[in-house]
Amino acid sequence: MSKENKKNIETICVQAGWTPKKGEPRVLPIYQSTTFKYETSEQMGKLFDLEESGYFYTRLQNPTNDAVADKITQLEGGVAGMLTSSGQAASFYALFNICSAGDHFVSASTIYGGTYNLFAVTMKKLGIDVTFIDQDASEEEISKAFQPNTKALFAETISNPAMNVLDIEKFARIAHSHGVPLIVDNTFPTPINCRPFQWGADIIIHSTTKYMDGHAAAVGGAIVDSGNFDWEAYADKFPGLTQPDESYHGLTYTKAFGKGAYITKAVVQLMRDLGSAQSPQNAFLLNLGLETLHLRVPRHCENALKVAQYLQSHPKVAWVHYPKLEDNKYYELSEKYLPNGACGVMTFGIKGGRDESVRFMDSLKLVAIVTHVADARTCVLHPASHTHRQLSDEQLISAGVAPDLIRLSVGIENVNDIINDIEQALEDVK
Ligand SMILES: *Cc1c(COP(=O)(O)O)cnc(C)c1O
Repeated sequence: MSKENKKNIETICVQAGWTPKKGEPRVLPIYQSTTFKYETSEQMGKLFDLEESGYFYTRLQNPTNDAVADKITQLEGGVAGMLTSSGQAASFYALFNICSAGDHFVSASTIYGGTYNLFAVTMKKLGIDVTFIDQDASEEEISKAFQPNTKALFAETISNPAMNVLDIEKFARIAHSHGVPLIVDNTFPTPINCRPFQWGADIIIHSTTKYMDGHAAAVGGAIVDSGNFDWEAYADKFPGLTQPDESYHGLTYTKAFGKGAYITKAVVQLMRDLGSAQSPQNAFLLNLGLETLHLRVPRHCENALKVAQYLQSHPKVAWVHYPKLEDNKYYELSEKYLPNGACGVMTFGIKGGRDESVRFMDSLKLVAIVTHVADARTCVLHPASHTHRQLSDEQLISAGVAPDLIRLSVGIENVNDIINDIEQALEDVK
């Protein structure tokens, strides 16, 4: 749970979350303990009834995790936040916290492949239905996807790997006109480059596995609540938050926890029952990454823009998609929502199509082929043969992934070394 955000973002990166008192460790300690001790049986009973807050079991809460969740909450300017074991768990919890069997939500179609699968296949099996929409369609068009049982609108600030920039204000207007929250996956820009709450988003999720950790060391996720969505105003739509929870003796989250209701419910109900907790060890690593986020993200962006410009000028490159290129379809939106830079990721295709794109990738030496993105080391991936392998051609196109598309994640090495490696690999292409 977060205090009011008064410091500048660089200071929050370095110092927020863990505030040691006299004689305590300067560095956030890893509370490597599943359990926490109490003096009386009654003290612990009160924790189980949510009458008092405190630690009792790391599946629900752990001081290391809470300090890091607090830092991320402050970075996003939210009121409450939590860590999850992965970005996938964060997306699932964010929706499952307010959707149950028979409900429906609306999502942009150009989203991360794993999220697409979670929504289109796994959540459908739970009886939760999704309608995918084109995020660039008009408000009127997108509104047609809403039904009386719709509970949320979901999209990515910068979509992975389609690299579409979200018009967050438009999405917030659509969501709010239908009485549902806007949930935004802010993994790619990070709060260094965009803070979606300022534009009307209600809930933010992260795959902290990416830039936040930044070193490809620990899988993790986070959910942050702005505290701005008025659940009580749509009490019938969100009974899980506004009606008594029998598993806690009839407690009502909105009444008992106010602006903390949404995150408290996700912790004490979903984390209790589903258990996708982050390990404190990983939270420690994530925190180290966060301490330099404000230094790394600008360098990723600076390098990526130079690489994108280089690729664009190369005769063997068919197309480059990076929102900060001036002729890009999303340039104007990126200037509005991402004035300081987008991220290190871009996509491009090589003349000669799919086969030449694969040949190019196999010729790279410094740049590695890995199923990862958004860390310090430059890497590439071919979504059609890797992350999006499960999708049909039709789904691929709807997810914004052309068969020849190469996703390049530019790291923080010297940009000339990155360009030299790309140049020598392009020489091998016909
Ligand atoms: C990687 C990613 C996810 C999934 O996160 P994991 O930590 O891999 O579970 C979700 N959204 C986006 C935008 C991602 O890049």
